[in-house]
Amino acid sequence: MKAAVLYAPYDVRIDERADPKIEQPTDALIRMSATCVCGSDLWPYRGENPIKGPTTMGHEYCGIVEEVGSAVKGVGRGQFVIGAFAYSDNTCSNCKAGYQSGCIHGGFFNTAQAPMLRVPLADGTLVPTSGTPSAGMIPSMLTLSDVMGTGWFAADAANVGPGKTAVVVGDGAVGLLAVLSSKMLGAERIIVMSRHEARQKLAKKFGATDVVAERGEEGIARVKDLTRGIGADSVMECVGTQASMSQAIGSARRGGYVSYVGVPHGVTFEGQQLFYRHVHLHGGPAPVRRFLPKLIDLVEDGKMDPGKVFDLTLPLDQVAEGYRAMDERRAIKTLLQP
Ligand SMILES: [Zn+2]
Ligand SMILES: [Zn+2]
Repeated sequence: MKAAVLYAPYDVRIDERADPKIEQPTDALIRMSATCVCGSDLWPYRGENPIKGPTTMGHEYCGIVEEVGSAVKGVGRGQFVIGAFAYSDNTCSNCKAGYQSGCIHGGFFNTAQAPMLRVPLADGTLVPTSGTPSAGMIPSMLTLSDVMGTGWFAADAANVGPGKTAVVVGDGAVGLLAVLSSKMLGAERIIVMSRHEARQKLAKKFGATDVVAERGEEGIARVKDLTRGIGADSVMECVGTQASMSQAIGSARRGGYVSYVGVPHGVTFEGQQLFYRHVHLHGGPAPVRRFLPKLIDLVEDGKMDPGKVFDLTLPLDQVAEGYRAMDERRAIKTLLQP
């Protein structure tokens, strides 16, 4: 089969790879309906994570079960399924506590930019939809595998709820879907920090009430202006840089909640700043599996359309252009058709 492989910074290609097979009785094989490029794929793409030889790429997926191992009971051939970017047994202590992305038997996918995917621990990892979704619904279903689930976790971890003021730092796909999640969870005011006009527009469609284009201290001052000088109840950091983390912590009120779901690169925390601000900090790789059943319902019931974050659709063959467009910020997120 064809698969996306990263060779070196800015060099992603389609290679011929062996078709995946059932290796363990708990595996499933799925035929991908759609896959995509993630903002987090840009870290290795830009050489900011070291690349040790040719590396297959991709961790976001949804599709039809093609084959299951002998121990798989929960899903079967022909079913449309979605799974999180991390696989999990959904039965260990960490999973039961709602942290399936920290499953003691789990791991992360890195072969999903391809037409077929082997899913370990299929019973714990995959959630079937109630029927085969229409073609128009597939982009939204695909977002549940990572970006929508991660945006939802950002909002959940930042204690977003009815009447709350929320700030989203970052206007990538996760940031935009943190806006949508905040709206769905009832936030009263949703401030998105963005400088990009097309992204500001989509953020408003998703429920943002205010846009702050300023950054750093000026950005924090603008948030304070909008929150009676207090700061926000809930702040979601969706980038992973020191600048965005400092902006997030600075935008929270005393005793506020800051979640962080951008993979941190060079981020450090200042103990006394955290101490005197009474800040609640919670983040990490989102336990998307916890939220999947609920998010599938919301999409199936037509309550939300997170698939709008895909503003570029390409055949898998053109994966290189898909990465380039996201790297140059010409596209928010690229959907790949296997
Ligand atoms: Zn991702
Ligand atoms: Zn587990």
